Amino acid sequence: MKAPVFTNGDAHADVVIVGSGVVGAMVADQLVSQGYSVLVLEAGLRIQRGQAVENWRNMPFENRVGSDFQGLYPQAANAPAPLYFPENNYVGLSGPSGSSFKQGYLRTVGGTTWHWAASCWRHLPVDLKMKSVYGVGRDWPISYDELEPFYCQAEEEMGVAGPSDPAMQSPVERSRPYPMDMVPWSYGDTRFAEVVNPHGYRSVPIPQGRSTRPWQGRPTCCGNNNCQPICPIGAMYNGIHHVQRAEQKGAVVLAEAVAYKIDTDENNRIVAVHWYDGDRTSHKATGRQFVLACNALETPRLLLLAANDRNPNGIANRSDQVGRNMMDHSGFHCTFLANEPLWAGRGPAQNTCLVGPRDGDFRSQYSANKMIVNNITQVAPATRQALKMGLVGRDLDAEIRRRAAYGVDLSISLEPLPEANNRLTLSATRRDPLGLACPDIHYDVGDYVRRGAEAAHAQLEHIGKLFGATEFNITTSLNANNHIMGGTIMGDNARDSVVDGDCRAFDHDNLWLPGGGAMPSASVVNSTLTMAALGLKASAAIIKQLARG
Ligand SMILES: Cc1cc2nc3c(=O)[nH]c(=O)nc-3n(C[C@H](O)[C@H](O)[C@H](O)COP(=O)(O)OP(=O)(O)OC[C@H]3O[C@@H](n4cnc5c(N)ncnc54)[C@H](O)[C@@H]3O)c2cc1C
Ligand code: SF4
Repeated sequence: MKAPVFTNGDAHADVVIVGSGVVGAMVADQLVSQGYSVLVLEAGLRIQRGQAVENWRNMPFENRVGSDFQGLYPQAANAPAPLYFPENNYVGLSGPSGSSFKQGYLRTVGGTTWHWAASCWRHLPVDLKMKSVYGVGRDWPISYDELEPFYCQAEEEMGVAGPSDPAMQSPVERSRPYPMDMVPWSYGDTRFAEVVNPHGYRSVPIPQGRSTRPWQGRPTCCGNNNCQPICPIGAMYNGIHHVQRAEQKGAVVLAEAVAYKIDTDENNRIVAVHWYDGDRTSHKATGRQFVLACNALETPRLLLLAANDRNPNGIANRSDQVGRNMMDHSGFHCTFLANEPLWAGRGPAQNTCLVGPRDGDFRSQYSANKMIVNNITQVAPATRQALKMGLVGRDLDAEIRRRAAYGVDLSISLEPLPEANNRLTLSATRRDPLGLACPDIHYDVGDYVRRGAEAAHAQLEHIGKLFGATEFNITTSLNANNHIMGGTIMGDNARDSVVDGDCRAFDHDNLWLPGGGAMPSASVVNSTLTMAALGLKASAAIIKQLARG
């Protein structure tokens, strides 16, 4: 087992990785498994699962009902993450849709998947060919067939449970079955499909990073519905699982290590990354290969922060594309009371999704959508509503029960197109505690998404009728879905792209930027499985590169 070498607080490793989320930790695990020394610099703190559970339990009702998934995770003094209760303004937002880009990512050892919903979708093959098939967006420089083996590997690594019946899969193009069979549908999931599917909809099980049997140290999901913001028993996959695996094999993960500066040599190869420790002392990590996996918002920020004499516009930014093409699946909610009880809240946070409108010729005109039946228990919104009605005693109790049983919440996501003006820049005025410029983002979802939202409204009204809906409501403003993409976009040439099909930077042949930042198209499904697959594809290329010497 080869370990990083530390000398007077500085470090040397074969591979230096920045960021210990699912992407960085999975890459670390791949490389340390091949016998290379691996150092991971992680800005955030180490979190204890039990402490996070206690913090959630003890949060005020308003935070819980407002889904304050960020606030229960302790923040490192030097590495702020966005907070909303109250808002800390760490990420500055502007533009016509700035308010719909309020991302909720964590800066902790293990990263944001501590509080994700674990939906593990693949892109459709056609999602990688948006330009050539639908005349919008960009094509990927790699095909679905090239990515497919890494999707299989990512599903294995994350322990994904999904349907074995192709009629319930999306996409059906897969060379291996899911590692585990699907999370069983609850009564509500089954009834939902029974009601809508005969009317042309396609309600299918969500493939998810949850164990339906004991899996690599994870217990079986017991369906307690607390996945967001923390699975109390670790049945849901989190990046921390790969951190632990990599550490057991000899990788060193330094917490409270904020990377801020990058050195390059005369060939523009990366020679070192500098980091601040918790005491704000600077250190340097040298290595042979460097991976930045800080997520699609913090990676472009770091590349811009690290501008040096040879790269005055930022590292990897000769194309001027670093920070551009920022994307998320902006979305909205549709809520109603059904004419029969569906009992949301049994099983995991998300289990059922309508995938019919994922694809079709309409994509040349407007965005696809996906509709998730939000399975987070309706008790909190039901209580809030029943209290507003002024009820007390048994009447209050009965109304909470009625609303919790009959309440439906559909979460709709839309597909953005990469757009150069949707851009991350460095703030000229706001600084983090280390004096580093905070990120600013200008965002406009664009008419493609707006038209997609209108099409989804018509479908929702039809679904509402199928359930005899009362109190039918569609939210008007678009919300963030925390699937941060773009910022270091992939392409087939260095003129308009930051990385190639292996997520290697065009400008620096030993720098790799795997993850959401590289994705040239967003599809309409949650993107982390694709980020992980890209991380694994990059790992395979790094291993080849290291073997060459
Ligand atoms: C509430 C919620 C629900 C979600 N549900 C889903 C879902 O169901 N399915 C899905 O596909 N996706 C979901 N996501 C998105 C998913 O969590 C992210 O796509 C995923 O975590 C991204 O992984 P990552 O490794 O790229 O980044 P992260 O997990 O964000 O990790 C990046 C790490 O880099 C570190 N870092 C940043 N800057 C520096 C620096 N300068 N120096 C050192 N370290 C640094 C950070 O501290 C962080 O730990 C959800 C997100 C949220 C917030
Ligand atoms: S339903 Fe409960 S056990 Fe299952 S993943 Fe979610 S929180 Fe964990």
